[in-house]
Amino acid sequence: MRINVYIGLGSNMGCKRRNIETAIEYITKIPGVNLVKKSSLYETEPWGKTDQDKFLNQVIMIETDSGADELLDRLLETEIKMGRQRFEKWGPRVIDLDILLYGNQVIRTERLRVPHPHMRERLFVLIPLQEIGTELRFPDDGVTIEEVLSRVLARDGNTDIHKI
Ligand code: ADP
Ligand code: MG
Repeated sequence: MRINVYIGLGSNMGCKRRNIETAIEYITKIPGVNLVKKSSLYETEPWGKTDQDKFLNQVIMIETDSGADELLDRLLETEIKMGRQRFEKWGPRVIDLDILLYGNQVIRTERLRVPHPHMRERLFVLIPLQEIGTELRFPDDGVTIEEVLSRVLARDGNTDIHKI
């Protein structure tokens, strides 16, 4: 069974654009993965820990036969291959790969939470996600991406992210 999976990519070290492209190449080479859509690239202010360089973010949609756990393993391997080291929570990173949505599944295990736990507050996820998944709904509460995004924008505005 083919499942549509949305993956969030982020980089704020080195050649960020190149890092994101390389990560997409690796993801495309995972057996049983087809790349279907890519959002635009967005330049965003750092979130959580703000004394660091700006990020580039992008969201892609793939189709896959791969189970969620297995896909997470492949993504974490890709992060490591690309030289990601975990110095500090939310600190600078060569590449960050997050499973945002995995079909309509709700996953709550020790190592994997889908929908991604912070995505409802993060414009750098919501804006590119909505660009390629206009009709999406969160599988846990049924709320549309559009609704979540407009709530966050109404509350905080948007000074933090722009398309490049
Ligand atoms: P963040 O992406 O929140 O900045 P990290 O990338 O450092 O944090 O966190 C990685 C860990 O988060 C992974 O080891 C993985 O087990 C866990 N994790 C939980 N849910 C997800 C998800 N939906 N996508 C990616 N990693 C996840
Ligand atoms: Mg991550």
